[in-house]
Amino acid sequence: MSETVDAPAVTRIPHWIGGRRVEGSSGRSGPVYNPATGRQTGVVDFATAEEVAAAVEAAAEAFPAWRETSLAKRAEIFFRIRQLVHERRDEVAEILVREHGKVFSDAVGEVTRGLEVIEFCCGIPTLLKSEYSEQASTGIDVYSIRQPLGVVAGITPFNFPVMVPMWMWAPAIACGNTFVLKPSEKDPSASLWTAELLAEAGLPDGVFNVVMGDKVAVDAVLEHPGVAAVSFVGSTPIARHVYETATARGKRCQALGGAKNHMIVLPDADVDAAADAAVSAGYGSAGERCMAVSMVVAVGDVADELRAAIEERIPKVKVGDGMEPGSEMGPLVTKEHRDRVASYVEGAPGEGATVVVDGRDGVPDEGFFLNPTLLDDVEPGMKAYADEIFGPVLGITRVATYEEAVRLVNENPYGNGVAIFTRDGGAARQFQFDVQAGMVGINVPIPVPVAYYSFGGWKASLFGDRHVYGPEGIDFYTRGKVVTSRWPDPATSRVDLGFPQTR
Ligand code: NAD
Repeated sequence: MSETVDAPAVTRIPHWIGGRRVEGSSGRSGPVYNPATGRQTGVVDFATAEEVAAAVEAAAEAFPAWRETSLAKRAEIFFRIRQLVHERRDEVAEILVREHGKVFSDAVGEVTRGLEVIEFCCGIPTLLKSEYSEQASTGIDVYSIRQPLGVVAGITPFNFPVMVPMWMWAPAIACGNTFVLKPSEKDPSASLWTAELLAEAGLPDGVFNVVMGDKVAVDAVLEHPGVAAVSFVGSTPIARHVYETATARGKRCQALGGAKNHMIVLPDADVDAAADAAVSAGYGSAGERCMAVSMVVAVGDVADELRAAIEERIPKVKVGDGMEPGSEMGPLVTKEHRDRVASYVEGAPGEGATVVVDGRDGVPDEGFFLNPTLLDDVEPGMKAYADEIFGPVLGITRVATYEEAVRLVNENPYGNGVAIFTRDGGAARQFQFDVQAGMVGINVPIPVPVAYYSFGGWKASLFGDRHVYGPEGIDFYTRGKVVTSRWPDPATSRVDLGFPQTR
């Protein structure tokens, strides 16, 4: 996509290669908007395959020295990074609001959850501790070590422009790898902010690089023989493409895809608490979260009361520019995405669903807003059920039994997050046993794991076998080596052509 710059306030957003800003030379670029006003604020360079290669080369050059940097020094840099992000949290939160549209408090929350991953990585000396077996055989010791992979890449979505990259670059770099990030072209500035902050914290040039762009840049990353591993977060079709291409080229890959997260409400649940949770998790960040609740599954006779409680809360949600104090929900990221989300509301009655609250009503003329929308009688087979809408559209589906509710979740192609609301501990325990999803909430609607666990879904929500950050992140960005060692003792040395046995 090529756009002309049509306003003087439009900022050019370049790449970051080898420790400095590098303007793109492709002549291709994309527009960046403030979704609250609908006005273009930036133009982001789109990388060529050669520019991606330059970033990989810078990372490859930086790798030997970074790999040799002691764990103590790496930890020291991570403590400085942690301090700088902590101090400048509001600054990057404002960048997120202006390009993504989420409200300021939500943006601060995003930075804070990313910061937790950086804090986890400050413990890299402990995280890379290995095992040692003294005297595994007489005079022989055996130990394991974990080593970095080399140059690794991250490809990230628009909806968490600072946190999702932190899930990747922080453990990757802490483990001794060097990194190339390809962020979303819709809200790229947070990645440049990150690059400058990492340089200020003392990270050597070339350890962290950013290439801006679209499919051309992504495919160049996937094809480059110098990239050892790829982490991806985004929609399911692209996750599948990335996983298949990267692994066919011999790269290690973890590719997180889309979601359709169910919140099951059993008849014994506290209805007010469940309605608060559904509204918070359905409309927070305008539903543009991979862990957003999009389907409320009302079991038995709870449906009418629950629907009324959700409906009563919707008009109280304050929709507005994310920088306005008091705003609780901002606009969607682009006009195209807003229109796509609205099309599900338009189509719902034709499929047999009921539009209880229509978010297309009363939206401001400016910006990419859609108000909270509630659909009832949504059933599998309808588009509003089958697709990941990724907007402020909450659907209710009614089922008679717990078993039916679990079947809906388990038959869904996605398996990212899921939640159950109940006061029955036994039912909750059975649910965690039965349900096919990677992240389960018990009376918790958005069960994003803390940084010392790992994040990831099942089924079409994750391609690959390693979740991101936490212990699995450390595992993903390192490979193991086992050393069997003997210090020669002339008294015991002899020729022995038999297969080595422990003695
Ligand atoms: P997206 O798949 O459109 O884009 C993700 C990345 O892929 C971007 O960097 C983009 O430039 C690139 N890309 C887009 N089209 C491509 C193509 N044809 N070929 C190669 N690369 C391409 O996703 P998005 O709209 O930015 O983000 C929203 C999606 O991300 C939702 O589906 C959401 O569920 C998902 N997501 C998942 C998680 C998770 O943890 N599972 C977290 C956040 C977001």
